[in-house]
Amino acid sequence: MLNLSDNSLESIQSEHQHPHKRTQELLLLSIVIPTYNEEKVIAVLYTRLYEVLTQIGVPYELIFVNDGSRDGTLRELTKLASEHSEVRIVDFSRNFGHQIAVTAGLDHAQGDAVVIMDADLQDSPYLIHQFIEKWRQGYDVVYAVRKERKGETAFKRASAKLFYRTIQRLTDVNIPLDTGDFRLINRNVVDSLTSIHERHRFIRGLVAWAGFSQIGIPYVRDERYAGETKYPLRKMIKFALDGITSFSYKPLQWATKVGFTVAILGFIDAIMIIYEKLFTSVTIQGWSSIMIAVLVLGGMQLIMLGIVGEYIGRIYDEVRARPLYLIQDLYNFEDRHREFCK
Ligand code: UDP
Ligand code: MG
Repeated sequence: MLNLSDNSLESIQSEHQHPHKRTQELLLLSIVIPTYNEEKVIAVLYTRLYEVLTQIGVPYELIFVNDGSRDGTLRELTKLASEHSEVRIVDFSRNFGHQIAVTAGLDHAQGDAVVIMDADLQDSPYLIHQFIEKWRQGYDVVYAVRKERKGETAFKRASAKLFYRTIQRLTDVNIPLDTGDFRLINRNVVDSLTSIHERHRFIRGLVAWAGFSQIGIPYVRDERYAGETKYPLRKMIKFALDGITSFSYKPLQWATKVGFTVAILGFIDAIMIIYEKLFTSVTIQGWSSIMIAVLVLGGMQLIMLGIVGEYIGRIYDEVRARPLYLIQDLYNFEDRHREFCK
């Protein structure tokens, strides 16, 4: 466990507003947990959460979002929900993806503060203690910073490291390095997030964008308790592209810059070729250089077209404005009278 009085914690405080000590009590804490094929972890996750939350002694609700699981996740969840009324389930009609599942959880949470965490126990429930401590000091966002990642492949660690640094360079929003979605957010931030209807959501970026007073707490990210990662390379790339395209135009500006550079070089070369043709007897042997020029330029054009395409595809998704998710069933929400489905 981390020492709360550790001064190094303060060093991660972002340059947002300074907090004012909160005087009101935490009347309800919501915990949002996206789950996709996590049957093996649900029971132990609940036990750990129950232990931690009873110790803390705040009223709470656990909002599990079943993101179209194909294993026994829903069975495990409904078992819990039938025994404990504070366990609520949002059951999706199919798999909509991690970020959308978190969004649905936030839409349904009614707590004064909401903790977002993964189901696989990589995000230690014990950190919730410190989250609340910081919340009481007045912070609106308390995010967990991964000091160390256990049990993940060298490739995943390296690619994650590269990704967080790349996105930092590409965007104007100061997204803290090495943070996932594991965090506590205050009601004002939850409301800001639920008012954003973007489809390709990069929640940790949106939270940074929202501002308010934020602070990071370092932690050691554990191994997944059971099961496999639900983020294969393909999904990781899509996630990275969502993050970059929703916060930066820079890739589009590269296209302009590369285009100008190539065009200028091309003009210089053209003048030289014309000069040689008119005023010298140098015979220009062409095939290799032409092939290189055609292939390199063709390749570059396709890449640039692809970059533009990434943005256009996302614009298309936004314009169609389909609902972010569809719900098959809600469990233990009988006491709520809100229109949930957006
Ligand atoms: N998850 C989800 N929908 C998906 C993929 C993942 O709800 O399409 C959930 C998953 O059940 C877990 C969390 O998102 O609770 C993070 O996924 P995972 O642990 O597989 O990612 P990793 O930690 O390997 O990056
Ligand atoms: Mg995980």
